[in-house]
Amino acid sequence: MRNEESRDKYQKTVASLYEITRVINSGRDLEYVLRYVSKEIVSLLNAETASIMLLDETGTELLSKASFGLTPEEERYITFKVGEGVAGWVVSSGESALIDDVTQDKRFKTSEHQVTVISSLLAVPLKIHNNIIGVLTATHSRKNAFDIQDETILTLLGNSIVLDIENARLYRLSITDPLTKVYNRQFLYNKLPEEISRFSRYKTPLSIILFDVDYFKKFNDTYGHDAGDCILRNLALTVKNNIRATDLLIRYGGEEFLILSTESTLDEAFAIAERIRKEIENTDFYFDNKTFKITISLGVSQYRTGLTPEEFIKCADKALYIAKQKGRNRAEKIIE
Ligand code: GH3
Ligand code: MG
Ligand code: MG
Repeated sequence: MRNEESRDKYQKTVASLYEITRVINSGRDLEYVLRYVSKEIVSLLNAETASIMLLDETGTELLSKASFGLTPEEERYITFKVGEGVAGWVVSSGESALIDDVTQDKRFKTSEHQVTVISSLLAVPLKIHNNIIGVLTATHSRKNAFDIQDETILTLLGNSIVLDIENARLYRLSITDPLTKVYNRQFLYNKLPEEISRFSRYKTPLSIILFDVDYFKKFNDTYGHDAGDCILRNLALTVKNNIRATDLLIRYGGEEFLILSTESTLDEAFAIAERIRKEIENTDFYFDNKTFKITISLGVSQYRTGLTPEEFIKCADKALYIAKQKGRNRAEKIIE
């Protein structure tokens, strides 16, 4: 490469790193940052596609988190196990791969979902304290498209986003219940004041559905704690599949869950509660090749001006208490 060209690329890289830092500091969500960086990779390296893959939580598989130039199917379905394909090799070796012609490289593996023509491929690890969390890749349909300078640039781009990715992961972990993978109580304490102030501004209704498994102590005593855990996981999954994406499911306590239903009035939330109650009543839960039935009781309350978050939850708790008193497997709402 001519000196002039090299200098030009250097200047573009510095400008791009500056812009990426600015985007990160502007507080945009991680998805946006990663998409932005994918586009920058394509532009800086004169590549045709770029993708950012991160290891899943078990650390065994790379999943695509953002890309540029790939089809939606490629972005969604192309995954690599550690050690598999070039990206998987980068994870297991901890080294970059600069490939001039993939047909001559044994590490290269085509996926059944791949439609993009690839001849050149550059892949670098995303590292944090020598811990690999993912891989950045760039491809081109022409051979010999990338050089060592491109490898350095891609590594620099990776370094500029790796902490942001890690922070987002740690935050997600801090608000997720490990058993059921739904939000935990900490998330509720972050979110509820936010939703209440939104209510104050826009007056959109806000309701809570609090529910608790009926006679769960007896269930544990009869079938064991593992069976109980399995029920809780599947209960959370079933409920999550039966609410809108805007309704947030939170594990509030042991076998007690809370749904924060934004934009639902008391009657609408009560209808949701009834629907969930029936769904659970009719669901067969499986553990260890056996079928189990459970029921839940639910309490519903709607936010009104002046209530603190604690008082708001307390209202739903009162309704839940009444549902239990009236015989369980039922929903109650509180009108005050
Ligand atoms: P009620 O119908 O009045 O709600 O009766 P209950 O037995 O469900 O209520 P109680 O609050 O007395 O018992 C809750 C039980 O839930 C206690 C415990 O055995 C069980 N539990 C709480 N958290 C977990 C958990 O994480 N895993 C399992 N397996 N059981 C749990
Ligand atoms: Mg309970
Ligand atoms: Mg219970």
